[in-house]
Amino acid sequence: TKDIGKIEPDFVRSFQFENKLLPLTWVVVRIDGCHFHRFSDVHEFEKPNDEQALKLMNSCAVAVLEEFEDIHFAYGVSDEYSFVLKKESELYKRQSSKIISAIASLFTSTYVIKWRDFFPHKELKYPPSFDGRAVCYPTYKILLDYLAWRQVDCHINNQYNTCFWNLVNNNKSKKTKEESQARLKGTQTREKMEILRELKIEYNSLPLIFRMGSSVFRLKEAAAVENGVVSGKKLEGQVVVDHCNIIERCFWEEHPHILS
Ligand code: ATP
Ligand code: ATP
Ligand code: MG
Ligand code: MG
Ligand code: MG
Ligand code: MG
Repeated sequence: TKDIGKIEPDFVRSFQFENKLLPLTWVVVRIDGCHFHRFSDVHEFEKPNDEQALKLMNSCAVAVLEEFEDIHFAYGVSDEYSFVLKKESELYKRQSSKIISAIASLFTSTYVIKWRDFFPHKELKYPPSFDGRAVCYPTYKILLDYLAWRQVDCHINNQYNTCFWNLVNNNKSKKTKEESQARLKGTQTREKMEILRELKIEYNSLPLIFRMGSSVFRLKEAAAVENGVVSGKKLEGQVVVDHCNIIERCFWEEHPHILS
């Protein structure tokens, strides 16, 4: 303890490096589940898409938007979520490590707390974790290209996975995982659509949440919502989840308040 007076705080602090994100750019923090291939196996997720697991992800993203006002939009698919901060954000003085860790840890703890609501009959067998990264996008156009890229990825993966799991689970074709993989190797969209048609799967009538992923944002104005038998009212500023096409620019033209 007699050495305690010798510590020089400025010297110790000088080893920390600056990690400030470029000013006036859109910051995207993408988190992704660590080893969710295994996590989804252990927790017996439905394949190719476990809807409850996706809804749990969405509800965690809503919690993140409710906590961080500077996050104006989020897009999620599979075990990942991208969070977009407004370009003027000064959250944590734009220090990337603080922003990433705060978002990833809030998302993760919410995932654990809400697990029961979405899987009342399934025990959470071990603690999940999410990694995160931050990327700055300097123009609105590049930002929209980024989001379109994630939705294209959702589309391509979903089409592949829908084919793969239907080949594996089809009682007539009785293909193994290896045979199904071999069958799909090198196939283009058209051929995959043909395979699905042979299996009597109408791809375009699969739920939107699988085909489009999920977008999370605040409502600009109050809106009446019809959701099957339930109808209600959503308030201005309320965080909502939708499954829209964000590749087409008309979505962004119709919702200019979100990001531009
Ligand atoms: P890494 O740690 O490198 O991210 P990973 O195993 O999480 O590895 P990803 O590329 O992130 O690999 O893929 C996530 C995997 O999690 C998917 O391939 C899928 O098997 C599974 N998965 C995630 N969400 C769902 C879901 N809603 N329904 C079914 N499976 C899912
Ligand atoms: P920030 O978000 O900036 O970190 P903070 O409120 O977490 O704000 P810290 O400087 O990290 O501020 O201080 C943590 C505070 O949490 C302490 O000042 C104390 O009030 C409280 N705290 C943390 N651990 C304990 C503990 N074991 N017992 C009592 N109080 C605690
Ligand atoms: Mg990863
Ligand atoms: Mg992952
Ligand atoms: Mg992933
Ligand atoms: Mg603290």
